[in-house]
Amino acid sequence: MYIAKEIQTAAYLFASILFILSLSGLSSQESAKRGVLYGIVGMIVAIIATVMGKGVEGHVYIIAAIAIASVIGIMVARKVEMTAMPQLVAILHSFVGLAAVLVGFGSYLDPATQLLTGAEHTIHLVEVFAGIFIGAITFTGSIIAWGKLDGKVPSKPWSFKGLQLMNLILLVICIILGVLYNNAEGTSGMLYLGIMTAIASFIGVVLVMAIGGGDMPVVVSMLNSYSGWAASAAGFMLGNDLLIVTGALVGSSGAILSMHMCHAMNRSFFSVIFASGSGNGSGGEKKAIEGEVTALNHEEVANLLKEAKSVVIVPGYGMAVAKAQYPIYEMVENLRKDGKLVRFAIHPVAGRLPGHMNVLLAEANVPYDIVMEMDEINDDMPNTDVVMVIGANDVVNPSAQDDPASSIYGMPVIEAWKAEKVIIMKRSMSAGYSGEDNPLFYKPNSEMLYGDAKDSVNKILAFLKA
Ligand code: NDP
Repeated sequence: MYIAKEIQTAAYLFASILFILSLSGLSSQESAKRGVLYGIVGMIVAIIATVMGKGVEGHVYIIAAIAIASVIGIMVARKVEMTAMPQLVAILHSFVGLAAVLVGFGSYLDPATQLLTGAEHTIHLVEVFAGIFIGAITFTGSIIAWGKLDGKVPSKPWSFKGLQLMNLILLVICIILGVLYNNAEGTSGMLYLGIMTAIASFIGVVLVMAIGGGDMPVVVSMLNSYSGWAASAAGFMLGNDLLIVTGALVGSSGAILSMHMCHAMNRSFFSVIFASGSGNGSGGEKKAIEGEVTALNHEEVANLLKEAKSVVIVPGYGMAVAKAQYPIYEMVENLRKDGKLVRFAIHPVAGRLPGHMNVLLAEANVPYDIVMEMDEINDDMPNTDVVMVIGANDVVNPSAQDDPASSIYGMPVIEAWKAEKVIIMKRSMSAGYSGEDNPLFYKPNSEMLYGDAKDSVNKILAFLKA
């Protein structure tokens, strides 16, 4: 049974509206759940309207594929830890890229498209070429991003002199291949298309390899944007209006998010897109770290907190790993009852997801009015008695301000070192996600409290209650 074209168009329009509502819902924490729901309903409408459209055959196979994929999707989504979410997002982006490549080849070889003539034929060829190019970059770039986020590929930037020139030359070669492919008869352009796919796949790898861990948030949102454009290109090839609209929504919202991320991290949008070296680091000799590392125990931390009037907590990825937000909030309430000013300082890229820390703190019912953005709280640091850095590292690294050779140089950071006392809670002296050592640990007003964040907070809490 097929549905009429008009009904399909109306369903597509309805789904597009739901996707727009979904994006707007996702822009704030309070409406995010509603936004996700709109997205789910929109996608169900889109799939039904497409599968029931005229000319679609093999419904049994399609339904079987949807059922198997849905079961896999539900299983993976239920199992995935919040901290592993970026990896999942990256691998899903790679699927969109791969789909665009496959649709491109399928569309090029489709006998029906061979009958196109004149401008229509040229437009189709350009759609296929651009779709495969963007799809291949998204596919391999997302796999490398997944590897970097999952620790399978080193998060340190991998680059060499002349990388940009090489990318430019490869781009020019792709354009020449595009001209040859456009002039080829029948399906003989397959060779050029194949070579271009290999080159684009290679560009995807080197583009993301050249980005340092500190800049990964921008890369993830950029790949999100690329995957949208790849889906949009697939929509053009398939003549599917909804796919074009949805792809453009994802592509443009991803691009806007990337620009916000670049702004927050003081990075140039183009230097990240073209991998013109990671961040602002000069790549020269790094500054030697001076000072000595000292450590204290849980009871000493509790005593410092008892004496403090103002406390700032800087949470990071380690808090998410340890799931320490619940005892942290209990500790905060305990201190607030004693009349102390206690606030959280949130860096825009703390954790591994945009808004990661805000979501975790909201989960533990921390009131919004004590959760401050980095810009709101940095000026207050010199008036703060104790800063507790809980599982954070890169976001409090002073090298971002004073070591031009550091890969995170130029990134705004939380100026924890300006407080009277800094307590850094982590398990070891290991570097942050960017791979950069942190001179904050060696400052005279800093002390380490080693151990798992949740375990440590529980122990401090016990001393505070005693
Ligand atoms: P970092 O990844 O820099 O550091 C986290 C620290 O947490 C580590 O040094 C680790 O030290 C410690 N840690 C890990 N597990 C535990 C635990 N169980 N208990 C206590 N400590 C623990 O985190 P930040 O949040 O400071 O910075 C985020 C980094 O991730 C930035 O470089 C950012 O650019 C990048 N990024 C952010 C994304 C985003 O969208 N927010 C996306 C992708 C990357 P130890 O092993 O010694 O315990």
